[in-house]
Amino acid sequence: MTSIDQLYCKTLDQNDPLAALREEFNLPAGMIYLDGNSLGAQPKVAFQRAQQVIQEEWGNDLIKSWNKAGWFDLPSRLGNLLAPLIGADADEVVITDSTSINLFKAIAAVLNIQSKKADANTRKVIVTERSNFPTDIYMAEGLTQWLDRGYRLHLIDSAEELSKAINQDTALVMLTHVNYRSGALHDMAAVTAMAHAHGALCLWDLAHSAGAVEVNLQQANADFAVGCCYKYLNGGPGAPAFIWVPKRHQADFHHPLTGWWGHAAPFAMLPSFTVTPDIRRALCGTQPIVSLAMIESGLQVFAKTSMASVRQKSLALTDLFIQLVETRCAQHQLELVTPREHAQRGSHVSFTHQHAYAVIQALIERGVVGDYREPGIMRFGFTPLYTSYTDVWIAVEILRDILDSRSYNTNIQRNAVT
Ligand SMILES: *Cc1c(COP(=O)(O)O)cnc(C)c1O
Repeated sequence: MTSIDQLYCKTLDQNDPLAALREEFNLPAGMIYLDGNSLGAQPKVAFQRAQQVIQEEWGNDLIKSWNKAGWFDLPSRLGNLLAPLIGADADEVVITDSTSINLFKAIAAVLNIQSKKADANTRKVIVTERSNFPTDIYMAEGLTQWLDRGYRLHLIDSAEELSKAINQDTALVMLTHVNYRSGALHDMAAVTAMAHAHGALCLWDLAHSAGAVEVNLQQANADFAVGCCYKYLNGGPGAPAFIWVPKRHQADFHHPLTGWWGHAAPFAMLPSFTVTPDIRRALCGTQPIVSLAMIESGLQVFAKTSMASVRQKSLALTDLFIQLVETRCAQHQLELVTPREHAQRGSHVSFTHQHAYAVIQALIERGVVGDYREPGIMRFGFTPLYTSYTDVWIAVEILRDILDSRSYNTNIQRNAVT
């Protein structure tokens, strides 16, 4: 095996077909940013786009921009730009609302579909993982409690339990494709097939997948999907999220947030709701246009490459990081949480350490930005569009130095946002 040193990483960078895309982003000098899985970096063109929206579209054209600048169609137009990254067809995705709210709409739609079936009285269970991102569980909890129709959550503790948990009582299997904490990746096609075999529907959260791993919703025969635009898609802080409803389910997609943007004739201003037949039925009300408009800048970068290339580099970066941490920090009791198998790994890597929070804070102070997640996990996101192999080398060297010299403060106060 080639011995890995900084020079070797530099060679990898020189041969990296995605290397030039780093120039598309504003990255602060001296920072190694390994948190693009939480908030993506800023595409350089976002600044001009923001100026255009604020100065021309809002400042000059005011209300005319709903037509002239295409504000009204923005959720669908951006959804169509995103579609190829997740294996969706045109007119199946809209960018709107938050992931939490889109989960609410999708869960409600599934329960409504299932309530029309002959076995509705017994098909009452939502299967999900205890380790799912909290909001996914909370939204399901909130909706089912509020409905008060006997729906209940079944929280499983590992992917292996899925085959036992999914049965004729399952209404919905709701999973996050790549686990936010461990980075473990589900086999979307296999799990979806298992759900369908028992008459259940499958809702996928792609928050840590879109722009990070290859996703093919159509090929996997998935039922519904939601996801974030401010993580790997680099859409900006608080950017609206997306929701995917395939053509085959659009006629049956009904949710209770029947706002005027989902109306068949929104400007007829009718006193009663009639749902639009197309994907716009997933919309609710007026969108934060300034924030929504930023998403295009992130999507434009993806148009310059392919998800296959992104995935290839992602695996190379995460492989390198795991190998370097395990060799160069070998004596420091770091425990890998993320699966080693490529087929089971997303684009971030997590290690546990006794002083994980303190070590992450020390890393951040030295310009290596990762983050901390309970319990005791240091999480590092690898974003192939702007992370280099040399970044990985330097990050591990700084980590090694912090651990070797114990230069972290175990009494450090927790920030409100970890
Ligand atoms: C980041 C993330 C969310 C975020 O939801 P918001 O409504 O945008 O706060 C939801 N689900 C998962 C799995 C996530 O990783």
